[in-house]
Amino acid sequence: MKKKILCIVIVGVIVFFGYRYFHNLSAKDVNSKSIQFSYEEIPNFNGRDAYITVNDNKPYFTNDEILTESSVKYGPPDSIKRVTSAMACIGYDSMPEDDAKDDDISVEPTGWNNVQYDCIKDNDGYCQTKVQLISWNLCGSAADKRNVIAVSPYLRQNMNMFAQRVARYIDKTNNHVMYRVTPIFQGEEILCRGVLVEAYSVEDSGAGLSFNVFLYNVQPGIGYIYSSGESTYTGEYEDTVFSGDITRDYAYILNEKTMTVHKPDCLQAAKIGTKNKAYSNADIEDLTGAGYKSAECCNP
Ligand SMILES: [Zn+2]
Repeated sequence: MKKKILCIVIVGVIVFFGYRYFHNLSAKDVNSKSIQFSYEEIPNFNGRDAYITVNDNKPYFTNDEILTESSVKYGPPDSIKRVTSAMACIGYDSMPEDDAKDDDISVEPTGWNNVQYDCIKDNDGYCQTKVQLISWNLCGSAADKRNVIAVSPYLRQNMNMFAQRVARYIDKTNNHVMYRVTPIFQGEEILCRGVLVEAYSVEDSGAGLSFNVFLYNVQPGIGYIYSSGESTYTGEYEDTVFSGDITRDYAYILNEKTMTVHKPDCLQAAKIGTKNKAYSNADIEDLTGAGYKSAECCNP
């Protein structure tokens, strides 16, 4: 009899702690354990700043999270199938050599509810787009549903800006960068309020590249209902435009295979493989004189 009670107690303890362990795991996945972030502390979008720095711009990576060899790890979906986070150690060897063949993302992320608006000038006027947490040009998968979320075209531009900053740093230094992108959901909402993007250059201990930023999932002129993914026209901040990256040290991105010149923020330029990609500060006239032509996607 005593043995039976002991068995029941042991099983109970295992079930209780097992539940707590897995419950915690789904609430805060393996990749995002070290993140100390509270969405409540983020001010509302002010119509001007597409992102704000958090934690004094210092990423949350712990020493044992920082790796020296290229790898990528996607967090498990949470209990309501939302994407949790993606973390990678990115090196020159992890960036694709060849240009991307197509950008068709067949995965359907949570909150996907796409509508066209006259006030949206890019993305064919659609208010949503699918984006990879770790972008293709760094090493991310377009087919893995743990890496794909629904965002505004405005947020996609901003995510691309930070991913491009990482790609450029690696291109210049051949160092590795720890990189983590975490969508931030509030409560049970299915469309994220924004993404947290952290980067840390490994070999120089963050001297070359280190940031921790929250990027808003907003679209000027549009209001999202984050619990359903629905949206409405509000006209608020309608004239806000994407402001680009002031820290970059190049004026154009070149594709040396197709001999095209792209604007630095061009989303198509993010699909150029490392063996075809070059950065340039030359004048456009000099580039066209050297045989390049303006790419139709961005028309520099
Ligand atoms: Zn372009």
